[in-house]
Amino acid sequence: MNRRTFLRCLPAAPLAAAPAALAAQAALIEPAHAKKLEVGDWDDLRGEVLYVCESCSAPIFEDDKRFSYTDGPDFCEVHAPTWSDLKAMQDEAIDAGEFTDWFEDPEDAELARRKVLAAIENGQGDVKVVW
Ligand SMILES: [Zn+2]
Repeated sequence: MNRRTFLRCLPAAPLAAAPAALAAQAALIEPAHAKKLEVGDWDDLRGEVLYVCESCSAPIFEDDKRFSYTDGPDFCEVHAPTWSDLKAMQDEAIDAGEFTDWFEDPEDAELARRKVLAAIENGQGDVKVVW
């Protein structure tokens, strides 16, 4: 098997995306009756489902990268915002005068803003913010 054949044999999406694909397929078959995936639905497959992606309903396990807002929702790596996305959200909130309302401590707002601006300054604007 040469390198090209080998690359063609690789799955188009990581195996971790399989449950999401199955859920999407199920939704296509019976859209009216499709049940939104909830935490706990996939527990037998890869361990405990800790979060569910708000965008695609993919289960998020302990070792998966994710983005979570402080009080939800949560997003899988694919649907996580980039640093530029976060900056745009912050810009909008700053323009509306609501940015500091996001935080209990105004110092945390300042810290969050500096973190986003520093990431973009370091050329990470297109990088997903996940942990
Ligand atoms: Zn997702």
